[in-house]
Amino acid sequence: MFKRRKFIKKVALGTVGVSTILACLDNSKEAKKVAMVSKKIKKPVIISTWRHGLAANEEAWKQLENGASTLDAIVAGVGIPEADPKVSSVGYGGLPDREGKVTLDACIMDHHSNCGSVAFLQGIKHPIVVAKKVLDNTPHTMLVGEGAKQFALSEGFVEENLLTEKSKQAWRKWLKKSKYTPVINIENHDTISMLVIDEAGNLSGGCTTSGAAWKMHGRVGDSPIIGAGLFLDNDVGAAAATGLGEAIIRTAGSAMVVELMRQEKSPNEACKEIVERIYNKHKNHKDMPYLQVGFIALNKQGEYGSYSLRGGFNCAVYDKEKGNRMEKVTARMTRKDF
Ligand code: ASP
Repeated sequence: MFKRRKFIKKVALGTVGVSTILACLDNSKEAKKVAMVSKKIKKPVIISTWRHGLAANEEAWKQLENGASTLDAIVAGVGIPEADPKVSSVGYGGLPDREGKVTLDACIMDHHSNCGSVAFLQGIKHPIVVAKKVLDNTPHTMLVGEGAKQFALSEGFVEENLLTEKSKQAWRKWLKKSKYTPVINIENHDTISMLVIDEAGNLSGGCTTSGAAWKMHGRVGDSPIIGAGLFLDNDVGAAAATGLGEAIIRTAGSAMVVELMRQEKSPNEACKEIVERIYNKHKNHKDMPYLQVGFIALNKQGEYGSYSLRGGFNCAVYDKEKGNRMEKVTARMTRKDF
C-alpha cells in the first residue's frame, strides 16, 4: 500500500514537474520546440501557387505514388501548366515581352541544396526540364539566354514556336498603347511555384514562368533566381514566390522567409513578415500601384503557410488527409483597398 501511494505521488509530482517546466519555458525557444515535435503532420505535402497548381499537384502526387523522385514529380507537375496554351503566364502560350518574344525562366532545388536554373530561355517549351538538366549534367547552377538554349538543344530538346495566336493578338493589342503598367493578379503574377515535403521529410521545390507580360527584352524576374523566387534549407523549410519579380529580388524574398522559419516563425508568420517588409520598402516606390507579391512556405514538420500583399492570390495544397484543394491566401490589402 505504502509503495503504491509513494508511486502515485511520484507520478503526480512528475506530471506537475513537466507542466511547471513547460509553463516556465512558455514562449521560450524550448517550449516552441516541444510544441513542434509533438505536432504530427502526415507527409507528403505539396503546395503550389495559383489555380493551375491543382493540375500540377495532381500530376506530382501521382508521380510520387508511382515511386518517382521528388524532383521528377515536381518536373512532371509544373510541366502541366508549362504545356497548357490556356495558361498565359507559364511555358507554351505565355504572354511575350514587348518585342513579341516568349522568354522563359525556371529553377529547381533539392534537399541537398543542389540547384539548377535557366533564364531568358527562348523556343523551349519545358524550361523546368532544362533547369533539372543544368542541375544533373553541368558543373553550374544557372544558364541563361542563348547559352541555355544551346545547352537544351545539345540535350535533345526541340526548338518550338511558343507564341500562340491568342498571345500574339494580346501583344498586338498591347502595342497600341505600349504602356507598362501590369494588371494586378492578371498580367504578371501567375508563376507556378511548387514546394514538396516527401514521406522521409525531405524538401524540394521548383518554379517556372514566362515572367511579366510586356517586359523589356532580356528582363529576368525572381523566378529562376535561387534565394528570390525559390529557396530551401532542408534543416528548416522551403519557400517560393509569385508576383512582381523586381520587388522579390530586391528583398531576397524566399531566402528571407526560410530564415524567418529558422527563427521558429511558422510558415504563415514568415510569409507575412516578408510581405510586410516588401510593403514597407515599396510604399513610396514607383512600382507600388501595381505591386503584388505572394509567398508559399513549408517547414520541416510539413506545416504550410502563405500570405500575399493584395487579395486574389490563392494556392493549391495536396496532402493525404484532405486531398487536393484550393486554399485562399490571407492578404494585407483586400480587393476593395486597391
Ligand atoms: N514572379 C514572376 C516574375 O516577376 C511573375 C509571376 O509571378 O508571375 O517574372
